Amino acid sequence: MSHTTQAELKILLKKVFGYDEFRGQQAEIITTLVNNQDAVVIMPTGAGKSLCYQLPAIARAGTAIVVSPLIALMQDQVAGLVENGINAAALHGHLTKEQRQATEQALLAGQLDILYVAPERLKSERLRRVFQQIPLALFAIDEAHCVSQWGHDFRPDYLTLGCLAQEFPHVPRIALTATADKRTQQEIIERLHLQQAQLYCSGFDRKNLFYHIEPKQQPRQQLLDFLSQQSGEAGIIYCASRRKVEQTTEWLQQQGYAALAYHAGLDAKIRETNQRQFIYEDGQLMVATVAFGMGVDKPDVRFVVHLDMPRSIESYYQETGRAGRDGLPATAWMLYGLQDVLFNRQLLAQSTAEPRVKAVEQHRLDTMLALCESTCCRRQVLLRYFSENYTKPCGQCDWCVNPASTWNATESAQKALSCVYRTHQRYGVSHVINVLLGRNNKQIQQCGHQQLSTWGIGQELNEAQWRSVFRQLIAQGYLAISMDGYGTLQLTERCRSLLRGEIALYLRSDQRAVKRPKGRFEL
Ligand code: ADP
Ligand code: ZN
Repeated sequence: MSHTTQAELKILLKKVFGYDEFRGQQAEIITTLVNNQDAVVIMPTGAGKSLCYQLPAIARAGTAIVVSPLIALMQDQVAGLVENGINAAALHGHLTKEQRQATEQALLAGQLDILYVAPERLKSERLRRVFQQIPLALFAIDEAHCVSQWGHDFRPDYLTLGCLAQEFPHVPRIALTATADKRTQQEIIERLHLQQAQLYCSGFDRKNLFYHIEPKQQPRQQLLDFLSQQSGEAGIIYCASRRKVEQTTEWLQQQGYAALAYHAGLDAKIRETNQRQFIYEDGQLMVATVAFGMGVDKPDVRFVVHLDMPRSIESYYQETGRAGRDGLPATAWMLYGLQDVLFNRQLLAQSTAEPRVKAVEQHRLDTMLALCESTCCRRQVLLRYFSENYTKPCGQCDWCVNPASTWNATESAQKALSCVYRTHQRYGVSHVINVLLGRNNKQIQQCGHQQLSTWGIGQELNEAQWRSVFRQLIAQGYLAISMDGYGTLQLTERCRSLLRGEIALYLRSDQRAVKRPKGRFEL
């Protein structure tokens, strides 16, 4: 066992990495590993997780094995370490036979401080036998949430990492992730057999991020307005589909922006070129699907835009977390609309996942929508989701800076719900709104819906306002969207009290959509 003291660790920190102080809980985490104990580390992106295993890798005798899911990330890390004079190498599928053999020889000769390995490499018993023959400093399992079958970063190869506990009982292990939700944490601990590990969970508040969420009205114009305030800084623009990535990139280029595209359907070479250009050139916009981001270490991303609503608060948190890693002010800016909810619901309906997995996803989607529709400080909602207490409004979100007004929507909501009922819960939002507005199109005529008592009773609001009402009714659980993939609206148990007039309902007025209604509507 090593007897490294705090003072010695600090000297190493300065000598090898050039830093004067440990950040947050780094010192405690490193001490835990140096003292041969396991650790589970849950810290937001940019908090400095890598150092938590890199420093003990040097402080302890033997080679540290780091499991990491992304080759690009591995290569960057290895390059950075070698630059700092550390003997680091990587084993993954993109090596030639000669490169692999050279690395394995260095490993067996005890020349490596840190070896990065792709998870699938550890399935090979041969490699694990090699590990048995040499002194090991520790195992680090980066992006440990990839072990979770609930999450969408699930990597089956991560499941095999559970065997390390039995095969290497005397080697300390550290699992790291930026994913905060309790279920995933529990799964990491169970599947990796880390029940004895020290748990380090630092705060999830990204103090330098400004959160802004607004309804989609004219998305392109809204985006241009936003970009015009960003004075040529670098940012990531997330879209829900590959097609939208391509269309948006092209359109932004036409508008004179330096926009690059990134999604899993692009050729690997193009992806790599674009990623490098984004990282090394100033002021680039990366238009991307969620395929872009994990492990991209660009500290000065000044904003992250979501043109579509992510499927969960976890995704939103991780993706927005890529802004402002340097600690300077940055913005998380999002547009959302009913279409996003329908789109995600459709994906879920088509998914072949088990019903319980779907139910969890459904819940995640609902809470995401609730964040968008929240009528209080965004940061409070976000941190409460991660079980953190954040009592005061933050002053750094759209709601704190410019609270949306609310209006008494009880009567309109009753009309909306009755109309769903009268149309036998068989139609989607657009049709129900057409009935409310008293439109007389083909579908209305075919269904004979101009005969309904609710036909034309909703003239007090326009279409955009009705959409806002429906969105909020869904977000608050008064209406549900069926799993049939057609966006059919259904009444919920909850809507009874509203229909009976037992409660009043206040909804937020969307600043752009809801103009002050004349007469009987208060704001
Ligand atoms: P994470 O993996 O948690 O997202 P990283 O390990 O990539 O974060 O670290 C984020 C940044 O913080 C990196 O640029 C890293 O060099 C820097 N960093 C880490 N620890 C310290 C420290 N003690 N002092 C100063 N900078 C640090
Ligand atoms: Zn706030």
